[in-house]
Amino acid sequence: MARGFSSIPDRRIRIQRVPGVWEEVLECDYCGGSGVAEVEEAVPDYRSGSGYLIERLGECPDCEGRGYVELPEEIDAEE
Ligand SMILES: [Zn+2]
Repeated sequence: MARGFSSIPDRRIRIQRVPGVWEEVLECDYCGGSGVAEVEEAVPDYRSGSGYLIERLGECPDCEGRGYVELPEEIDAEE
């Protein structure tokens, strides 16, 4: 990715983790909020003793499959 990280993406979404309690979180940039991303998985090769990497769809490593990440506290303090 050739994007800079100086600005914070404004992709807030609201979720209810506890009924009646809305929380603002950021849509996960890595997987676009789907919770699923291409991840590399190491496949051991016992015949050669080494192994290789495959890409497969799996749980997003950034948000652990939730599709969102917590808002950094500094952002909240600005408002
Ligand atoms: Zn994600």
